[in-house]
Amino acid sequence: MNRGCIAIGEIKCDGCQRLIEHGQRYLLMEGDGGEKFRFCVDCCLSKGHAAYVKEKGEQVLTFFPTRVNSQAEQQGSNREGKIG
Ligand SMILES: [Zn+2]
Repeated sequence: MNRGCIAIGEIKCDGCQRLIEHGQRYLLMEGDGGEKFRFCVDCCLSKGHAAYVKEKGEQVLTFFPTRVNSQAEQQGSNREGKIG
């Protein structure tokens, strides 16, 4: 389950290890074992978990709530799992 969140306090990005400052947006991802990963906007953009969408002339950052899941995944033979 992926969720777009807003940082409260300082959080470290699990992708690039950079600090996500208070008030900045980040993506919270949950692994199969319930472990949580946090990714800054830059990581999300580069991994395709988020994109800037134009709305009413303004660029708005949108996190993709969940990527293609279970059914398609189960058909593919091997699961590559973790990020990084
Ligand atoms: Zn990052």
